[in-house]
Amino acid sequence: MPCDARCALAVLDTKADATMMPLNAPRQIPAALAAPANRMRQAWRLVLACLLAVTGAQASEGPPMVAIQVAPNSYYVQGLAAMGSPKNQNFISNAGFVVAEEGVVIIDALGSPALAERLVAVIAGITPKPITHVLVTHYHADHIYGLQTFKALGAKIIAQKGAKEYIHSETARLRLQASRTDLAPWVDEQTQIVQPDQWVDGGEDMTLSGTRFHLALVGPSHTPEDLAIWVPSERALFSGDLIFNGRLPFVGKANSSHWIKALDQMTDFDAVAVVPGHGRWSDNPKQDIALMRDYLGYLRETMGAAVDDLLPFDAAYAEADWSRFEAVPMFRFANRMNAYNTYLLMEAEGLRAK
Ligand SMILES: [Zn+2]
Repeated sequence: MPCDARCALAVLDTKADATMMPLNAPRQIPAALAAPANRMRQAWRLVLACLLAVTGAQASEGPPMVAIQVAPNSYYVQGLAAMGSPKNQNFISNAGFVVAEEGVVIIDALGSPALAERLVAVIAGITPKPITHVLVTHYHADHIYGLQTFKALGAKIIAQKGAKEYIHSETARLRLQASRTDLAPWVDEQTQIVQPDQWVDGGEDMTLSGTRFHLALVGPSHTPEDLAIWVPSERALFSGDLIFNGRLPFVGKANSSHWIKALDQMTDFDAVAVVPGHGRWSDNPKQDIALMRDYLGYLRETMGAAVDDLLPFDAAYAEADWSRFEAVPMFRFANRMNAYNTYLLMEAEGLRAK
C-alpha cells in the first residue's frame, strides 16, 4: 500500500478530534492507548510517522488548514487575505461545514481540488459521517474549483439559478484557462467547472441529512446568484461573499445598492455566529456587517457625487478621502478597482434614472 494511503487510513482510524487543530500539528497520544498491545504501538508509530511526513509535505505545499468551530455542529476553514497563488494553493476563501444528523453539509468548495481534498481530511478528523451536500453561495472561482472533489465522493451540489449564465459564459472559460497557468499545478487541465445537481430559486427551507437549512436569497448583490445559508438549530449564518470580514471586498460588477439592502436583511437573522466568504468568523455580526455597509455606502456616495458633477474618475478617486479604509487589509489590491466599478455603476444607474 502506498504510504499516502496508509497514512490516510491510519489517521481516519484514530478518529482524533481535529477541532481547532491544523492538520500538520502534532497530536497527543492518550497514555491509556499507548501502552498495552504491540499492535497498537505499531499503529500509533505509523500514525506519527505519517503525521511527520504530512507536516513536511504541507509546509512546502501550502498554508495550514484549521477547522474552527463556531457553533455546536458548525465549523469553517479560513482562507488567507491574499491574492491566489501557487504558493497558497488558491486558499483565499472560506469554506464552512455543518455536521448534520446523517451527514456533512459543506458550504462552498474552496479554490482548488487539492484544497478540497485537504478539507475532506479535516472533516474526517472530526466526524466519520459522509459528505452528502455542497451548498454553493456563488460561482466565483475561489469558491468552486474544489467542487469536483466532493462530487466524486457522491455529494449533491446545490446552487441558485442565477449562476447558469456565468457557468456557460466565455468569462468563466477564460478565467479557468488563465487559472490553469496562474495557479499551476493546483488548478490544471483536470480542473473543471462543475454544474450543480440541483438548481434552487433561493428563499426555500431544505432538510439536508436530517438538519434544516434556509437558503436565503441575498442576490443579485456580489453576484447574480448569491445565497446565504442560515442554520436555525445552530443559529449560524454562512454569508458567502456578501460579507468580507476584516478586509476589503472585491466589489466587481456587483449591485451594491441591493447588496446594502441584503446586509440589512442578514442582520435580521438572530445569528450567534456568522461565517463570511472571506476573513474571520464573527460573533458580533451587527458590528462586522456595519463595516461592509459603511464601505459600500461610501463608494456609492463619493462616486455618485462625482458622476453627478461630471468629474472624471481619476479626479474623483484623488479627491475622495480613503483614510478610514487605508489600513484595512487588501486596500492596496482592491480599493481603486472597487471605486472604478462603482463609478461605472453610478453612471449606469444615472442613465437608467433619466
Ligand atoms: Zn470570494
